[in-house]
Amino acid sequence: MNIVTDDSLRIKRKILVVDDESIDRQMLGKMLGDEYEVLYAADGIEAMELLKKHRDLISLVLLDLFMPGKNGYAVMEEMKVDESLSHIPIIVLTSERAAEVRSLRMGAVDFIPKPYEMPEVIRARVNRSIELSENSSIIKATQNDALTGLFNRDYFYEYVNLLDQYNPDTEMDAIAININRFHLINDMNGRDFGNDLLKALAETIRKIAREQHGMGCRNDADSFFLYLPRGLTPDEVHQKLSDGLTSFFDNPKTRIRIGIYENVDRELEPPRRFDRALLACNGLRGNFVEQISLYDETMHKKEAFSERLINDVEKAVSEKQFLVYYQGKYAIQGEQAVLSSAEALIRWQHPELGMIRPDHFIPLFEGNGLVQRLDHFVWRESAAQIAAWKEKYGIVIPVSVNVSRIDLLEPGFVDEVLSIVKENNIEPEHLLLEVTESAYSESSQKIVEVVNQLRELGFKVEMDDFGSGYSSLNMLSSLPIDALKLDMGFIRNIHHSDKDMKMVELMMDIAEFLSVPVIAEGVEEEEQYKLLKEAGVDLIQGYYFSRPVPASEFEMLIKEKVEYLKEHNA
Ligand code: C2E
Ligand code: CA
Ligand code: CA
Repeated sequence: MNIVTDDSLRIKRKILVVDDESIDRQMLGKMLGDEYEVLYAADGIEAMELLKKHRDLISLVLLDLFMPGKNGYAVMEEMKVDESLSHIPIIVLTSERAAEVRSLRMGAVDFIPKPYEMPEVIRARVNRSIELSENSSIIKATQNDALTGLFNRDYFYEYVNLLDQYNPDTEMDAIAININRFHLINDMNGRDFGNDLLKALAETIRKIAREQHGMGCRNDADSFFLYLPRGLTPDEVHQKLSDGLTSFFDNPKTRIRIGIYENVDRELEPPRRFDRALLACNGLRGNFVEQISLYDETMHKKEAFSERLINDVEKAVSEKQFLVYYQGKYAIQGEQAVLSSAEALIRWQHPELGMIRPDHFIPLFEGNGLVQRLDHFVWRESAAQIAAWKEKYGIVIPVSVNVSRIDLLEPGFVDEVLSIVKENNIEPEHLLLEVTESAYSESSQKIVEVVNQLRELGFKVEMDDFGSGYSSLNMLSSLPIDALKLDMGFIRNIHHSDKDMKMVELMMDIAEFLSVPVIAEGVEEEEQYKLLKEAGVDLIQGYYFSRPVPASEFEMLIKEKVEYLKEHNA
């Protein structure tokens, strides 16, 4: 890694020294030059010119009061009335005690008596004045984040631009920091603990930013950003951050995850740079081995791919490129496995990119209302399909559809699904609704209300990806559900790992406790099937029986079932 340790490449805040005595200017410059980039003006006119030129970049003015021509008072007066300059703190340089009071009244934040003695005192006063003024602008700008006192995101992005201007040649890293399972920590230890934790992390971030001449901010909830000149290695950043949390956790290193977009492309707007850091960071979610991830080429490609999909989606909707595939769920507890129902899974038949799986696009469209549109489409298709198969084969094959968290929170949602089943003349219980466990736990109260309404209307709701969320047994027993669908991750290795099989058995116990049937999906091998059957799983979905296929192909499976029913006189 290319580590920048040369101090000359570090970002320095600019300060302006205004004094007509060149010897005084030099002395101050010498005292402060290591830490700051010092600009000099020999009189009030020159000072105003420099101030106007560098406006936002100057962190402090050291101002001599008595100069020929435009004096210090006049400069203060002018700065006060100019909105773009009035926030810059001024320290007055004077040998006359009488002038101090007047200048403080005029808005100076401090004064330094002449002649200049103790350089360390002067440095401390300069540092403190800058810090105070930055803090007060933080407070102004971050009404949203009273908790940590860090910059809020918008202000931070502006500051990032400023830092870039300060030092156009410094290589910078954009860093995103997240607390692992923060909502759980909050749930288990209470909000006060959660808030203290956030404050401690913010404090650490502020310290790192100060030490490294960078900038930190709170993005939202438990998500923070750091913008730093390159220097620290990722491990060092990680270490420093976790050092600040030792009073909270035994092993703080595992409690945070960090995404780093190294050596940012200055052409990108700051929000895009931190999107990349976040992308890297979010990639670590659920990863219990690694805590640091660097934005890289593959992520870049993925990002470009995502962008492409977002660009193409409008056209795809209008050209009907979205299709619904069906995958059978089989009842396995009888002597023979029998098709019981199906799950509708969306596909995107892209004219150039080929068939795209929903994992690639559903998450992209969650933020912009498109998921709702696509989901409504799938529900309508599925309901119409149930009706069509009923008409053609005389039996009902219930179809389950995926319902996103945002669907459930949409005001017209219940009416929408109800009107879909009515229009197609099918029963609510035939359009099964799959809701992920994480949707339940993310906004449980509202979701529970909606699910209750649905069940009163006769809909059946299955909890999808069970085991991947964080529901407690306690919470589960109060949740309205009609079936548990085990997360595929648990099934994958049951035939190789006793531990995984034990987990499945544990979940079977939970289902029994809740008196609901269990569905296992992702079943690919006969061995898995046998183990699950033995464990008492009711329904199975997986490549072992059938892949998701277009409706026309799925009909073959229905025909098989019709044959079976005939043979068994059912
Ligand atoms: P899911 O709801 O958990 O769906 C099951 C996924 O497992 C499907 O992936 C299915 O094709 C896959 N699968 C089934 N059997 C096997 C197997 O034996 N082995 C393996 N490796 N995979 C198997 P798919 O179709 O790619 O869908 C992925 C996810 O996208 C779904 O996970 C669901 O969360 C989401 N999704 C799919 N269709 C829709 C939709 O219409 N609306 C919404 N909101 N989400 C959807
Ligand atoms: Ca599902
Ligand atoms: Ca699932």
